[in-house]
Amino acid sequence: MARDIITCPECGKPSEAEMPTDACLYFYECPGCHTRLKALPGDCCVFCSYGTMLCPPRQEAAIPEAEPTPV
Ligand SMILES: [Zn+2]
Repeated sequence: MARDIITCPECGKPSEAEMPTDACLYFYECPGCHTRLKALPGDCCVFCSYGTMLCPPRQEAAIPEAEPTPV
């Protein structure tokens, strides 16, 4: 289980959240102001939108493969 810091866009408070490695966390409640954060359009989870790291599936996707897949 990885951890990441999510910065709340409402109150600006950073908070540590557990990042599931096998699932995307689409909603996250800020412990500071209890705003229910939702992933931005186009983002698969709140870590991509508000976190300091991309979520594990995106991290893997961001690493170029040795053999690029033909489009
Ligand atoms: Zn907040």
